[in-house]
Amino acid sequence: MIQEAETHEFQAEVGRLLEIVAHSLYSERRVFLRELVSNASDACDKLRFLAAQDEKLAAGGADFAVDLAVDKDAGTLTISDNGIGMDRKDLISHLGTIARSGTAAFVKAIEESKRKDMSAIGQFGVGFYSAFMVADKVTVTSRKAGADAAWRWESDGKGKYEVAPAARATRGTDIALHLKADAKEFLEEATLEDIVKRYADHIALPIRLAGRTLNRASAPWTRAKADVTDEQHKEFYRHVAHAFDEPWTAIHWRAEGKIEYSALLYVPGTRTHDLFHPDRKHGTKLYVRRVFVNDAPDGLLPRYLRFLRGVVDSEDLPLNVSREMLQNNPVLTLIRQGVTARVLSELEKKAKDPADYAKFWENFGEAMKEGIFEDAANGKRVLGLARFRSTAHPDGWVSLADYVSRMKPGQEAIHYIAGDDPKTIAKSPHLEGFVKKGVEVLLLSDPVDEFWIAQTDEFEGKKFKSVTRGGADLDKIAGETRADEAPAEAADPAADAGALIALFRLALGDQVKDVRASQRLAESAVCLVADDSDLDIHLERMLRQHKQFAGMSRRILEINPAHATIKALIAALAKGGDDTAVQARLSEAALLLYDQARIVEGDKLDDPSAFARRLARALAEGFSG
Ligand code: ADP
Ligand code: MG
Repeated sequence: MIQEAETHEFQAEVGRLLEIVAHSLYSERRVFLRELVSNASDACDKLRFLAAQDEKLAAGGADFAVDLAVDKDAGTLTISDNGIGMDRKDLISHLGTIARSGTAAFVKAIEESKRKDMSAIGQFGVGFYSAFMVADKVTVTSRKAGADAAWRWESDGKGKYEVAPAARATRGTDIALHLKADAKEFLEEATLEDIVKRYADHIALPIRLAGRTLNRASAPWTRAKADVTDEQHKEFYRHVAHAFDEPWTAIHWRAEGKIEYSALLYVPGTRTHDLFHPDRKHGTKLYVRRVFVNDAPDGLLPRYLRFLRGVVDSEDLPLNVSREMLQNNPVLTLIRQGVTARVLSELEKKAKDPADYAKFWENFGEAMKEGIFEDAANGKRVLGLARFRSTAHPDGWVSLADYVSRMKPGQEAIHYIAGDDPKTIAKSPHLEGFVKKGVEVLLLSDPVDEFWIAQTDEFEGKKFKSVTRGGADLDKIAGETRADEAPAEAADPAADAGALIALFRLALGDQVKDVRASQRLAESAVCLVADDSDLDIHLERMLRQHKQFAGMSRRILEINPAHATIKALIAALAKGGDDTAVQARLSEAALLLYDQARIVEGDKLDDPSAFARRLARALAEGFSG
């Protein structure tokens, strides 16, 4: 060999991470073995996959295994595998730098957590460095499959590492840990066996110690359903999902018939951080006859189920299936349909326990709702699984079936209000009349809500109707008679409002489409609504923000003839309607109320200073008599 040993410095971030790792809590150190065994198993998976295309790569044996070896005199524990191996470049880039944001994210998480819990280290893609929890020196000797040369990587984890030519008879990797003085327990067979059984039983390769296999070495998804314990599910989930929470549920089945596959899928117990970053893929892995083929290939699951973690193992796809071949592959399409149907039926079962189901919905409901319009075949089922806040249950979760069962006699539509902020929409004046009549309104505040609602005609024959659009139709609905309510006023207050409405129309001119008496207001004086033929106010604002709609539809100003302010204006007009000064003051009031309605709506005023001047004038007039 001509090359000499060369010394490199760790990337600054890695250096910081290593400092934290070296000072981690004694009790959590045992997870290092899980991380190193998991890397060894990944390395074997990678080679097995590549060898399906190029047999030469697995020359010298495709019996993959992980071997643990203890040298008590030297104080070393070595983890060896016959997987893909690493060349000089790999050693530097994989074990010296972090391309991904994993290190920074982990350091931040650790520094923020009180317990300095290291056990989640694998989740951040920096599991290798956990070796320095137990070792004061780590020596990696590796030979990449298909290469003749071997390389040694060595470091004491204090800022620098060394890379030098080395010798290794066959492909694969040895990770030799020179155990710290206080970590000699990891030289004991019983301790190692314990850790492997606890943390690595799901690994599908044999993990051997002095020739004896410690784990079951069968992939959990190939076992019978009853044969996988909760504990094993938990560990396997953490392994495939790179997660550290517990699964909310495990869905494990084998499909037989036209196509055959096994699937073991988990719904995570907490919201995954990549839910709305589709580029960061973990997702569900595709295997073909026990060989790992692809991480989350497009088309294996519908997009809205992207929170699922686990494995689908096909019997029918060719082993050398490429990413391109997977696109529009008929077998994959059948698998996707089967998996989707199964997952939806599991969720339907789980929904029977509302408290438990709420946990799922809070984490993943926003993604699920995309399925209502994206999944042409199952959209209706997804709609049935959806849960919403409503005026009757502002903190609970309401299904559409619940809603429909509570509809009032004469109520024809499912009423909703959409907006950006749940607190603001819950206080919207548009709801007043509905609340007063005891008519439930759904409160929709996820951005996705406008999309599914725009594309969904009905649920169980009931149309969806925004309370900010068109007529409220409240007179057709039989209200609740409340004992504390005064009997209906003899005269319809709206009848007296005609002249005021005509004056408002003149004063506001083109700014509004119309002015009319409201059915939907109870406490507020005015509100703005969209005409039946126009877009819902919130939807239009959203489309404008996304530059998909220019301009601004004119709104209808609704006034509440039963409100004290409006009553006073009606009276003033009746008394002094011929007086131009009174007319001018009432026109001012129209502009003031219109601007006020826009503020409540969350709109920006065209001329805020004019609004301020009018308000000041109105106050002065009020106080002067
Ligand atoms: P992750 O496993 O999440 O990628 P790690 O810090 O555990 O992060 O490992 C970093 C990288 O080092 C791996 O992605 C892999 O490329 C490489 N590596 C680690 N151990 C081995 C091994 N035994 N054989 C081959 N490559 C390995
Ligand atoms: Mg790893």
